[in-house]
Amino acid sequence: MRIVFIGPPGAGKGTQAARLSRRFGVPHLSTGELLREACRLKNEVGRQAAEFMLSGKLVPDSLVHQIVVDRIVHADCEGGYLMDGFPRTVPQAEKFDRFLTDQGQPLNVVVELRVRERDLLERLKGRGREDDAAEIVRNRLEQYRRLTTPILDYYRHSGRLRTIDGHGLPDEVTQRLVEAIEAARAV
Ligand code: AMP
Repeated sequence: MRIVFIGPPGAGKGTQAARLSRRFGVPHLSTGELLREACRLKNEVGRQAAEFMLSGKLVPDSLVHQIVVDRIVHADCEGGYLMDGFPRTVPQAEKFDRFLTDQGQPLNVVVELRVRERDLLERLKGRGREDDAAEIVRNRLEQYRRLTTPILDYYRHSGRLRTIDGHGLPDEVTQRLVEAIEAARAV
């Protein structure tokens, strides 16, 4: 199963991604993690990405594309993957689609975890991390709204988007996600 998982900060995406990755037996790939790893290793991608990441900007599309493509050709991705944090812009989504179509391995499903903004703010406050300070939280949510809404439209138009209600107990949310992914697999 090749899955793209989209959701705003505070939606519980990390917890759910770990569960879905186990449930479907595919690796959980986070571009944030891959980029931080490249920075630690100080390789070419890492060196180029570092300045953008440190200033809280998005890394250029070509760099992220490269890091994703390099990762998904590994043997552990043969049965698919759960992609988290990518794509984040429409050009990334388009380029990724072109690549996957060339490979004959298109995405099976794109799942959006949706949580009311009021609840996201509550949850993020509760987490109490330094980068979750009110101003930063608002910026991250604003950035999500601005950049991600067009991606959702892009995937919706091609009929691959499933939007899941992220409210309720974590187990309930997992159940909804699993059902949506199973349904996409059956198509
Ligand atoms: P994250 O852990 O997902 O919040 O990502 C951490 C940082 O990595 C972001 O602030 C961006 O600088 C960079 N990054 C992660 N994914 C992407 C992406 N798809 N496009 C551009 N930059 C990204």
